[in-house]
Amino acid sequence: MNKKTVKDVDVRGKRALVRVDYNVPISKEGVVRDDYRIKMSLPTIQYLRDQQAKVILTSHLGRPGGIVKQELKMDPVAKVLSELLGTEVKKLDDCIGDEVLQAVNEMKEGDVILLENLRFHKGEEDNDPEFAKALAALGDIYIDDAFATAHREAASNVAITEFLPSVAGLLMGKEIAALSKLVESPEHPFIAILGGAKVSDKIGVIKNLMERVDKFLIGGGMCFTFLKSQGYRIGYSLCEDSQLDIAESILLEAQNRGIKFVLPEDIVSVPEIKAETSSQIVDIKDFPEKGVGVDIGLKTIDLFKKELQNARTIIWNGPLGVFEIERFAKGTYEIAEFIGNLERVTTVVGGGETAEAFKKFNLEEKISHISTGGGAFLEFLEGKSLPGVEALEDKD
Ligand code: ADP
Ligand code: MG
Repeated sequence: MNKKTVKDVDVRGKRALVRVDYNVPISKEGVVRDDYRIKMSLPTIQYLRDQQAKVILTSHLGRPGGIVKQELKMDPVAKVLSELLGTEVKKLDDCIGDEVLQAVNEMKEGDVILLENLRFHKGEEDNDPEFAKALAALGDIYIDDAFATAHREAASNVAITEFLPSVAGLLMGKEIAALSKLVESPEHPFIAILGGAKVSDKIGVIKNLMERVDKFLIGGGMCFTFLKSQGYRIGYSLCEDSQLDIAESILLEAQNRGIKFVLPEDIVSVPEIKAETSSQIVDIKDFPEKGVGVDIGLKTIDLFKKELQNARTIIWNGPLGVFEIERFAKGTYEIAEFIGNLERVTTVVGGGETAEAFKKFNLEEKISHISTGGGAFLEFLEGKSLPGVEALEDKD
């Protein structure tokens, strides 16, 4: 993936149509509850303004399904963005059409406009060329900075590239660079840490990484399906019985390939998943009949640290426990902090909840790259190509 970025082209004075990911949570009162995604878009916007470009921002918000929904209008986003930029960002009432075109043509260099929710038009999710053409009429150049939607084919990230010169924004460029390095030239030892809820969500990821990594460390809800497939009792812990055969065959494949597949040795067990409850650390050989596993135990934390010590590349998806409850966040936190302090190692973290955990722990700065893509990051790890990235122009 060697794609042109906004820095490889001349944007001076141009109408820059930028696809951003402003799919942010909005409260009933119409207030943005988390401005992380908006903040992540600032470098590209600032760069374009410095270049005297006219910045036309476009995004989807929620799932309106092709009709106008009052509660999914972009106004709250424009308000936050105006504050962050320190300049007024005008929000238009639609994303295509004569009035929009007129407003765009009245822009001055350095102005920023936010178009209305793309998904108010059915053409967006249908990847409709007519809708894409109407969007493209607003710009001289197209810039994609929405990595989180790169796994979906929509008019605003795929069809549109037929009509305009198309390059990556700075955030998208960072994602492409970090992820490309993982598949093209990772330094070894290359270790994958996998957790999260379900094995079934991650089978494709494990299979693809099997070709690349030297070692897997497994925690989270998914470890119990692996443990059960090896004959361990796991009480009422999360388990997918339909995946037991696959789990077993994965373990066998790893063994045949000489890839280390490390499962927990001890687990934090509780009678039920809630904050106020008794808990105990148990050896996986003595799992209580009615226990539920919610985190990796202390022995396992130490074991994982030892296994990670010499890593040169680490990729992590999926929390190692129910980190949303502070008492059960210890395993995830300790390992996160540990890899954050390792030297000479490239660390890449992704997945909706995993990124959330790093934000919560305030450890984002210690990681080489935290992906802004949930589904897109996972599909990339599965080895699938991302249509939104593919559609952009290659660097020579
Ligand atoms: P991501 O969004 O990073 O890809 P997942 O969606 O696969 O991650 O999984 C995240 C969820 O997994 C979290 O909400 C967390 O509470 C849950 N989880 C982690 N460990 C366990 C466990 N032992 N039992 C049940 N759920 C777990
Ligand atoms: Mg998730």
